Amino acid sequence: MISSASSRWHALAERAIAGEPTSRDDARAVLEAPAVELLALLDAAYAVRRHHWGHRVLLHVLDNAKAGACPEDCGFCSQSSRHGSPGGEEPMKSADELVEGARRAVAAQARRYCMVTATRGPSQRDLDTICEAARRIKAESGIELCASLGLLTEAKARRLREAGVDRFNHNLETSERYYDQIVSTHTWRDRVETVRLARDAGMQTCVGGIVGLGEHQDDLLDLAMSLRDLDVDSVPVNFLDPRPGTPLAGRPKVEPTDALRALCMFRFVHPRTDLRVAGGREVVLRSLGVMALWPANSIFTQGYLTTIGATPAADHQMILDAGFTLELPGGEVVTPDPSAVAAVPAPRKPTLPVVRS
Ligand code: SF4
Repeated sequence: MISSASSRWHALAERAIAGEPTSRDDARAVLEAPAVELLALLDAAYAVRRHHWGHRVLLHVLDNAKAGACPEDCGFCSQSSRHGSPGGEEPMKSADELVEGARRAVAAQARRYCMVTATRGPSQRDLDTICEAARRIKAESGIELCASLGLLTEAKARRLREAGVDRFNHNLETSERYYDQIVSTHTWRDRVETVRLARDAGMQTCVGGIVGLGEHQDDLLDLAMSLRDLDVDSVPVNFLDPRPGTPLAGRPKVEPTDALRALCMFRFVHPRTDLRVAGGREVVLRSLGVMALWPANSIFTQGYLTTIGATPAADHQMILDAGFTLELPGGEVVTPDPSAVAAVPAPRKPTLPVVRS
């Protein structure tokens, strides 16, 4: 006999698959799902994920192309120069180094390689380097390219697209209402404008946020609904991993089961979207990490910007153990192979203090 909990969540899944937008009340109910209903909830979220993404996982690799000394004051970020956090600075990598980073991502069987700079927005010189790297990477591999370079202008967005950047990341982080509690040096609306410029230039948009900033449940719901209004192509969901020295250093981590509820909520609100469990995956979800693959269809591997995450071999093993496959650039589907990626060289050791957590 099917339990009422199971039929309740599967009815929601059927409506999402049919194209009916998940209501705010239903999204709230997902965030408040009782612990005994968690497996039924994950199963229903998986039905939505499977309908649009099958049983495939997409791997993404981040490269911190210019680390630290950022003039912005995002309260969660250890790369801000404002916090007096034990940061540091690493100058812009060369195009050669970024091309090497993309080769490591290809070797890890990643679908996408993302070049990231800690800046308010890209200088012309940094943009030159990113564009040169993008052209060279596109000439030698089919890996999809993403860039995350802060605030854009129309001309800068156009240059990135012309160089071959497929997707631009610019997270909204939280709700418009809560944003000024976290950041004072730019506004939530500034961020929305850059998302619009990236899309208008012809790039896909990757726009997500962070769970666990101290926001109210309504802020998380606002974020999910705002991203739906913006019709973004990809939603990375990060979980705060409090960094020493930042204003949010003392915040408690999100409970693993609440993190899963949040991922399920984002899946129901964004049925078709490339939904990624992003920063904080390992330290917040801990032993429940593999269960994120039921609502989310993609993950980062090879670590994050300032923290070291799971290795490609560990991620391949997790995906293999759970019976999922990997989708490569171009759509080829393969079986994960931990031994094949065990020898992928680690990224060059950054001078920025990287925290193993
Ligand atoms: S999140 Fe980005 S813009 Fe904000 S301080 Fe960190 S690097 Fe700078």
